[in-house]
Amino acid sequence: MTILPVIPTSPDAPDAVATRRRPAMPPRHFADLDSAGRKAAVTELGLPAFRAKQLSTHYYGRLVRDPEAMTDLPAAARAQIAGDLFPPLLTPQRELACDDGATRKTLWRLHDNALVESVLMGYPDRVTACVSSQAGCGMACPFCATGQAGLTRNLSVAEIVDQVVYLAGVAASGAVTGSPPRLSRVVFMGMGEPLANYPRVIEAVRRITAPAPEGLGLSQRHITVSTVGLVPAMRRLIAEELQVTLALSLHAPDDDLRDELVPVNQRWKVAEVLDAAFDYAAQTGRRISIEYALIRDVNDQPWRADLLGRLLHGKLAHVNLIPLNPTPGSKWDASPKPVEREFVRRLREAGVATTVRDTRGREIDGACGQLAASELTTVDAGSPAADAEVAR
Ligand code: SAH
Repeated sequence: MTILPVIPTSPDAPDAVATRRRPAMPPRHFADLDSAGRKAAVTELGLPAFRAKQLSTHYYGRLVRDPEAMTDLPAAARAQIAGDLFPPLLTPQRELACDDGATRKTLWRLHDNALVESVLMGYPDRVTACVSSQAGCGMACPFCATGQAGLTRNLSVAEIVDQVVYLAGVAASGAVTGSPPRLSRVVFMGMGEPLANYPRVIEAVRRITAPAPEGLGLSQRHITVSTVGLVPAMRRLIAEELQVTLALSLHAPDDDLRDELVPVNQRWKVAEVLDAAFDYAAQTGRRISIEYALIRDVNDQPWRADLLGRLLHGKLAHVNLIPLNPTPGSKWDASPKPVEREFVRRLREAGVATTVRDTRGREIDGACGQLAASELTTVDAGSPAADAEVAR
């Protein structure tokens, strides 16, 4: 019998899976639970069911995350609840502010020492939270800092929700200079690919949008889920019949270039991903947002603007151009302003609504594609540019 050489297996082959340690998800937290789960959890603790509503009012209604501060609960119950339902999930590791206090970034350490970030952005009429859905990211887009380090693990529902509740608390404290003291928008544009952590992200969206005190009571329309274009998950999202805004990170209108910039394009091509996005727009009646990071001499040619214009003409879509934030060691740079202006002009000429994203978070690496927590120990205060919010 011929013995075949042992070929190294892919990381997902059964042998490798058997020996690989699965990343540990965090302990259960109040924010993981829906209304029925919350009642069940408090009765399991031997507490009356009405305590569940009381806890929701504190957590979602008053943004109190520490049971010790819930002083209308008996002290013994507080300790029990803290131990069982409010394990600390997010430990602030570092907080940074810039733009005169209108942009604030929090670096969190998770229970297993993984690091993720959230960014809070204040505008005259609104406050937006940019949250992470995974520790790291497995999508490997070469221009994105998070993509370089690979995926550590999915975040739990509560790890996502608790970022939002924390940031809502910061907003409510009035700390966001020049903005209303209320969080009104959430964008899933921090670390991770939200649709690769699909069930948890959807559940988090439900919690964030459930009316207070069942949830945070934000409008579904004010939630944006951004994706590289995982077509089956986009189709699943259509079936949820949610009213959330979908952002598609396109970055190139042609497969040749998109295969390189967004490697998942090798699996789902531009035509297919746009079809799914247009179907989402048709189902919700809401404009989709096409994200396009302009990279000098890579994807900023006039012919690519024209091709993008043809693909989007007459569709319920809006283009959001992002000046590239060069990541450390990157060979790429943002497009010069005249090139950017010409790109905008051509898209508008094709009848496509186009905006250029404002720049936020430049001194604190709180920018699009800059959220690479492992690098934060050496934050470069002079690092190049930009933001993390959809300019609308
Ligand atoms: N994984 C999701 C959401 C996270 S990134 C997605 O890709 O959509 C949020 C947005 O920032 C995406 O549009 C992403 O392509 C963009 N981005 C990433 N790195 C960037 C960089 N260096 N400069 C500008 N935009 C970047």
